[in-house]
Amino acid sequence: MEIVLSPDPVLKQECEDVSPSELREMKKLAKQMAKTMYDSSGCGLAAPQVGITKKIIVIDCNQDGKKKPTCLINPEIIETAGEPVTECEGCLSIPGISLPITRPEDITVRYMNLKGEEITHHATGFEARCIQHECDHLHGVTMFEHLSLMDRIKAFQEYEAALAAGAKPGDVSVEDADE
Ligand SMILES: [Zn+2]
Repeated sequence: MEIVLSPDPVLKQECEDVSPSELREMKKLAKQMAKTMYDSSGCGLAAPQVGITKKIIVIDCNQDGKKKPTCLINPEIIETAGEPVTECEGCLSIPGISLPITRPEDITVRYMNLKGEEITHHATGFEARCIQHECDHLHGVTMFEHLSLMDRIKAFQEYEAALAAGAKPGDVSVEDADE
């Protein structure tokens, strides 16, 4: 699957809920999305990033190199806790740059898995950040929308320069693009 790059309008759309009758189809989609994510060395991917406006994300926050993707359907962050933390994030749809984004440290997310079961999951740290980033995509929100207007203009200029330098999904700095 091809990764859609910002500022494609599909990344600005609110995604549709997945109904249980679509689970078979979603299983196939999740597999393709996971492959696309791993091919670009990403740790999360949301359906609109491959041009599909459905509420489905895949994540893999395991740092041990083993591929263990988790698929979250209709995810909803029902609770946040902890101090807001600022960390640099990258996005497969915004290659070549990373941006400091402030988010709650802990979250509780409710979602449907590929078997159609409702799951409530508590996540913290990197995983919580990753889930929040991907859930944002389902509501048409990218990293840029988290920044102040001035920072957003600066970030967008940096992004355009990175694209011009040949940045590809998975690159988080222009140095990556040079390789
Ligand atoms: Zn992203």
